[in-house]
Amino acid sequence: MKKIISFLSLVMLVSCNTVSNIEESRHDQNTHFDAFKEQFVNNLWALYPGWASGQGYHKYDSVLVIPNKVQRTKELAFCKANTDSLKQFELSALSDNNKTDYYMIENQLKANEWYTNEFRSYEWNPSDYNVSGGFAEMLANNYDSLDVRLHNFYVRMKNIPVYYETAIQQIKNPTVEHTQLAIDQNLGGLSTFDADLKEALTGSHLGASEKEQIIARAKEATNAINGFVKHLKKLKNTTPRSFRLGKELYAKKFEHDIQSGYTADEIYKKASEHKKELHAKMFKLADKLWNKYITEKEKLSVGNKGFTPKPKDSLLLIKKVIDAISVKHVSADSFQLEIEREIPLLVKFIKDKNLIYIDPSKPLVVRKEPAYMAGVAGASISSPGPYDKNGNTYYNVGSFSGWDKERIESYLREYNYYILQILNIHEAIPGHYTQLVYSNQSPSIIKSIFGNGAMVEGWAVYTERMMLENGYGNNADEMWLMYYKWNLRSTCNTILDYGVHVNNLSKEDAMNLLVNEAFQQKAEAEGKWKRVSVTQVQLCSYFTGFKEIYDFREEVKQKQGGKFNLKQFHEKFLSYGSAPVKYIKELMEQEILNSKK
Ligand code: ZN
Ligand code: ZN
Repeated sequence: MKKIISFLSLVMLVSCNTVSNIEESRHDQNTHFDAFKEQFVNNLWALYPGWASGQGYHKYDSVLVIPNKVQRTKELAFCKANTDSLKQFELSALSDNNKTDYYMIENQLKANEWYTNEFRSYEWNPSDYNVSGGFAEMLANNYDSLDVRLHNFYVRMKNIPVYYETAIQQIKNPTVEHTQLAIDQNLGGLSTFDADLKEALTGSHLGASEKEQIIARAKEATNAINGFVKHLKKLKNTTPRSFRLGKELYAKKFEHDIQSGYTADEIYKKASEHKKELHAKMFKLADKLWNKYITEKEKLSVGNKGFTPKPKDSLLLIKKVIDAISVKHVSADSFQLEIEREIPLLVKFIKDKNLIYIDPSKPLVVRKEPAYMAGVAGASISSPGPYDKNGNTYYNVGSFSGWDKERIESYLREYNYYILQILNIHEAIPGHYTQLVYSNQSPSIIKSIFGNGAMVEGWAVYTERMMLENGYGNNADEMWLMYYKWNLRSTCNTILDYGVHVNNLSKEDAMNLLVNEAFQQKAEAEGKWKRVSVTQVQLCSYFTGFKEIYDFREEVKQKQGGKFNLKQFHEKFLSYGSAPVKYIKELMEQEILNSKK
């Protein structure tokens, strides 16, 4: 009997090999690649314990890595070894999901090498050194029992003094802006080792002596942080490095972070042209709406001595009409209710217009922003991490508690009747939330960890326009004008970022761009300036992703002519997960070509 079986299996094996040789090797390649990915991620977490904890992988919670040359050498060796490993795979034999994973790992390794060897922010950006975030997470996040978390907290604190001593040795010629940021952020994190820790200890079951040990070590941590801040404050830095990145570093960072099919220069030009187009369209609409919003209202006011003439300056005219329309907004009390009311309406619209399939079994939970997120943003989506697959996805709505009347009114005008609808499209349906549901259908740990920000943000920004093009908001002039204003924000973010880092744009010119050309409040513009002086490239991700997706769709539409189907395009596009648009484009183009054969 045994013999027969082995004989049979031998025959089958042979026939398998001859009939579907290619299939078999494909299968092998993908199985091996899956194994490689698993190993890769395990090693990644061992090398970057802080990153691992942030992603919800808590095996290395008690480890704090010393940011020195030894660590950097290890990281470079990791990059080299894995780049070599990638070469053993035959790209054409991999599935689409694995192909994009391959590209994303390859890019990440290249980026890491570049960050260590060329970007070298560990020398000029003191805010690279800050331990409090990871520790704060251990106190606030309920992933394990408090006692376990506190124990790991204690062990992890041990290295804090060495961590900051090492930090001081690495810093050379830092920028003034990043030095100040490091001071503010490190001081801001002190409560983690004081009040917040003490509160957590009160709620724990640890014994008195253990609590004392923890508090003693926390004191050493606090001293180390204060020592670092003191060092930065008295640092003699007579010729500080400029916070502006310069053309060369900027181009490279753009390439690594955004992974666009366009270069930074190309995107800057496209954004500048787009701004002009938006202004022209906005002027047309505002000019048309002037009578309805300005003249007609003035007719109603008692003792009116005449009507405001239309400003000669077209930007000023637009601004006045926008201000007048913004008065239409919900009350602070009904802000969240309005969001909850609108979500099903969005779903219905998408269904009626056949724009994309929305899975009804995965409803979105709208909730009041939890306390630990307070003050971050007016509205945001939080999704479960790669290690928390059954977690809910929430639409967090900020509360106005502690805000004065003026601030609330200004916020409500910003998120007026029209913009609030666009925000819901962006954050929820068919924006971030819908994209997330689709990306979970082709699960990839690689895409969860290295997910491409430009694709994710670009999709959300793309859907705003797509919905309006399909008649959302009944093509009202007000809706379009407000949409253009909203779209100007991401467009001008790109112009600002490139302008400041590459073209030496002055603060005065930057403020003019944001306030007069993008119709932003002064406070918002000031905040943007602060952000652009300590970050680079990230502000471009919204517009770049949007432009790439939009241009690609138009291209496919043109090529397919009458055969083009918007719903199919959207579903196919999202099926690749959070991969860079240029790779999705490549795979989709191939598929379209194949289907023609
Ligand atoms: Zn009001
Ligand atoms: Zn977004």
